Amino acid sequence: MRKHIFNAGPCKLSDPCLENTAKAVMELNNSGQSILEVSHRSKDFQAVMDEAVAGLKEVLSIPDNYHVLFLGGGASTQFAMLAMNFLKTKAAYVNTGAWSKKAIAEAKIFGNVEVIASSEDKDFTYYPKGFTIPSDVDYVHITSNNTIRGTEIFEDLDSPVPLIADMSSDILSRPVDVSKYAMIYGGAQKNMGPSGVAFVIIREDMLEKVNTEIALPSMFKYNIHIDNGSMYNTPPCVNIFAINETLKWVKSLGGVEAMEKLALERSNILYAEIDRNPLFRPTVEEGSRSRMNIPFIWAEGKEELQDQFMKFATSRNIVGIKGHRSVGGFRASTYNASTIDDIQALVKCMQDFEKEV
Ligand SMILES: *Cc1c(COP(=O)(O)O)cnc(C)c1O
Repeated sequence: MRKHIFNAGPCKLSDPCLENTAKAVMELNNSGQSILEVSHRSKDFQAVMDEAVAGLKEVLSIPDNYHVLFLGGGASTQFAMLAMNFLKTKAAYVNTGAWSKKAIAEAKIFGNVEVIASSEDKDFTYYPKGFTIPSDVDYVHITSNNTIRGTEIFEDLDSPVPLIADMSSDILSRPVDVSKYAMIYGGAQKNMGPSGVAFVIIREDMLEKVNTEIALPSMFKYNIHIDNGSMYNTPPCVNIFAINETLKWVKSLGGVEAMEKLALERSNILYAEIDRNPLFRPTVEEGSRSRMNIPFIWAEGKEELQDQFMKFATSRNIVGIKGHRSVGGFRASTYNASTIDDIQALVKCMQDFEKEV
């Protein structure tokens, strides 16, 4: 029986994605070969790559002057790679939690970092607003959704310098005005596919801004990957297949507009229960609450119920709600493939537990 999966990442994926990927693992398009075996240079795989690139462009209405890449190494490699390519003297970063901090640490290897806004003063429980982006930096970097803390920015910022966003955990959950960004990237495993591959959406003019003062190995050059259609080396073929299936599924449900409606519906139901249930309380300020990652902790004095509730939830086929160790309590990750049924199972679990204790 399929469980109610609230894992932060790798995430729950849609049934059509799982079914079609499973079929392709047995045999890709009557080719007599598995997607695990077929050459990445074959027509069959080229079609998968082309469809995935075109699919992401269509779903996010990506303008023509952008390239789409699918690269190995996850979002963490991008933390370093983007700095390697674009940080010449100084970059601005917004610090909204653990992932921002990791991005900052990697950037510091290559140049100066100015943290222009931070929510660390209140333990990352809100998303900073109204900060000024300086015009004397090579780029500004934000983490649009903070997977661990559950804060999210819902607007596409205006910036005087190239705006780069880690959208690992909210990509495909709302329409994005891509034209405001120089680069959008993320690990696919939060809302797009399996782990081990990053998506990179990069504006053409950024390639002219690449730092030529330092020698970069080929694998860390965006233009090499663009020139080779994400196949400079052997790409993560099955992961890209699954991404393509997710993109087709998103399109079939009405695109990112429909995903946003569902995300609002799901998260509103869960936040309402967290706010209502006297056993629990939310950790994030209203206005910054993520629709994708929803942390909640015990009301004061109820902490000793932790193990009992975890067992209660497990017995109801609910998995993945244990909070990140830095926040404690619980976190329900409610990505695109989460259903209202999953959410209602969790809400019912919280309500029944309230009656039981
Ligand atoms: C998970 C995550 C990452 C890291 O992704 P990897 O693919 O594991 O490197 C980076 N940023 C955010 C916001 C994430 O949620």
